[in-house]
Parts: sequence; structure tokens; C-alpha cells
Amino acid sequence: MIYLDNNATTSLDPRVLNEILPLLSYFPSNPSSIHHYGQRARGVLVEATRKVANLLDVLPQEILFTSGATESLNTMILGVLARRASGHVITSKLEHSAVLQPLEWAATQGHVVSSLEPAAGRGSISVDQVASALRPQTCLIVLMGANNETGVLSDLEQIAALAEERGIPLIVDGVAWMGKVKERLPQGIAAFCISPHKFHGPMGVGIAYARRSLKWEPLIRGGPQQGGKRGGTENVPGIVGAAKALELLYEEKESSISHMRRLREIFENGLKAKIPSLVIHGENEPRNCNTTSAAFPGVDGEALLMRLDLAGLAASHGSACITGAIEPSRVLLNMGISKEIARSSLRFSLSKFTTEEEIHSAVSIITSNF
Ligand code: PLP
Repeated sequence: MIYLDNNATTSLDPRVLNEILPLLSYFPSNPSSIHHYGQRARGVLVEATRKVANLLDVLPQEILFTSGATESLNTMILGVLARRASGHVITSKLEHSAVLQPLEWAATQGHVVSSLEPAAGRGSISVDQVASALRPQTCLIVLMGANNETGVLSDLEQIAALAEERGIPLIVDGVAWMGKVKERLPQGIAAFCISPHKFHGPMGVGIAYARRSLKWEPLIRGGPQQGGKRGGTENVPGIVGAAKALELLYEEKESSISHMRRLREIFENGLKAKIPSLVIHGENEPRNCNTTSAAFPGVDGEALLMRLDLAGLAASHGSACITGAIEPSRVLLNMGISKEIARSSLRFSLSKFTTEEEIHSAVSIITSNF
């Protein structure tokens, strides 16, 4: 089976598994316990936090471990908005539901949300759009670094600079950005959320950075863990695995990105050579290195997805399954793409473990099944 659905989740790196296994198997590890085991767990937790902070070039107190990016984004968005009765928030129609849903709820609680639409055919929001949407009451901007369906990159650097200049917190969904672009995190970001299971780390753990000066209320209240910012016994094995996955991501970033970029080029060129009608969404825009969202005009995407699965290729429709019926992708529709084209579109996403042989096989499976 060839797995080209790495934007959904990735396989666990064996080196990450090696770090986690002893913590799962050998000793009980609640870092709040006073005894020897607890102290050992605390040491491991402190070390993992320091590692993550060093890699992201931030302070250990600015790192928060959660259950995943959905929780991190809810925590940061609702946590910032909880400190005011009402405010104006800027976001976009391209965001993941982990951003859209908390903001939809916030809109029912007195906040005003401007959801920006990309210009027709574009897969991201421009800094000028953000600048024109600013109001005196704007208290938050929430945008993604890269789109998980198309891979199209936002202009993070310029948007972060604008947010900084105006003194407005910018929360970035970094899930599809992390490890898929060479750039470091730009200055001016108030909070940044990433998901280790998207870069060969474990599931059930999220990493969030929240700038020390950002004022926010905890979403999960309970014990004094993580400085009271998130109650609940820390997932020590998950956190250690997340830290190891992030370390490997940084160590191998240059080579992994070049590898994925090269393979994606072979993949797209191979498809285009055999399927002249193929449309690659966001093809001429800055994109991350691992994602291809492609339309096969005249073909039913759902049926194609199933044929590919039976032929040994796992891909994705990039859309939600609502009451049994697959809807065309909201992201593609919001890019101005027609329902028919959106329905004929599939997403293929590569990882650092994808091989050239797999890419050649994937191209021949697709071209003989479409
Ligand atoms: N943001 C983006 C862009 C995503 O692709 C995803 C997951 O697919 C999430 C947020 C949510 O991440 P998690 O699975 O860690 O909750």
C-alpha cells in the first residue's frame, strides 16, 4: 500500500517510538508525585520542554503541551477572547474547523468575526486584505501558515509584521506549515500551534507556543500542572515523543524538504504528462513542499478515491463526510473553484519517508484508474 495522506497523519518515526517505549513500559511517571518516580518523570518533562523551547527559539515558560492542535487552537482563541466582553477578530474562510468552530461559537457570545475570502483562484489571504479588515476594536487575528488541503502558503512574515506594528495578537495554525518550509518562525506571532502526529510524532499530544506577554485564560482548569495554564496530568510519554519528533524535524529539515519537493515535482509532472486536463490547485502560488491538490475534470473524486484505495494507493478527498454524503471541499469552493471541479479533486500528501519508487507507482496507479 502506498500512503499519500500524510496531511491527515504520519507514521511514527521508529526513533520516536524508541524514546517513548521505556516511559510507557518501565516506570510510573506522574511528574506531580513527590517520590523518586515522580521526580524522575519531572526531570524528563522539564528536559522535553527545554528541548522544544530551544528548537522553537522561545522560552520554556512559553511552551504549552495539549492533546493536539485542535485543543491548542481552542485554548489560544477562546483564552484570548475570554478576557473581554466583545471584540473584533479577523480570520479567513480557508481555516481548519479547529479555528472556524471556536470562532463561530465566539460570534454567538458577543464577538464580531470577519472571515476573509481569498481573491478568486488564490489559496491564501494577502496582507493587504488583513490590513483593510482592521478596525479599532480588532483584538485578534487567526490565520494558518499553510493550507492543509492545497499546501498554499500564507504570507506569514508580512502578516506577522503588520500584527506586531498594530499591537494585535496573531495566532497561527502552524500544522501544515511546520517542517514543510525552510523559513524559521517569523517575529510578531503571539501564539503558534503545531501537531506532532503530522511530523512522525505521537497522536494525542499538541505543542503550543504562547508569547509571555500574551494575556489569555486557561481553557482547562484543574490541577496546577503547566503553571496552571492547563490542568491535568501531563502526557509524559507523548510529550517526550513530541520533543523527539520536533528535534528530528529540525535536524533533517533541509534534506526532508528537498526530498519531498523533488518527489512532488516528479509526481505532478508524471500526472500532467498523462492527464492533460489535470488542474493543480494553487499551482502557481507559493506552496509548501508536500501537498498536491488536483482536480480530474469529469471524474467523480469519491469514486476515484475508492478505486485508488483498491489499487493500493491511499489519498484523501480533502472534504468532510456529512451524513454519509461527501460534500465538495469548503476550502476549494472558497477559493472560487466550481462544485464540479471541487468534487473531482483529490489531495495527495507526501512525507520524508515517501520513496521515489512509490511516487512512480502512484502515478501509474492514478493514470490507469482515473
Ligand atoms: N489545523 C490544520 C491545518 C489541520 O490540518 C489539522 C488536522 O488535520 C488541525 C488543525 C487539527 O490538528 P489535530 O489533529 O492535532 O487536532
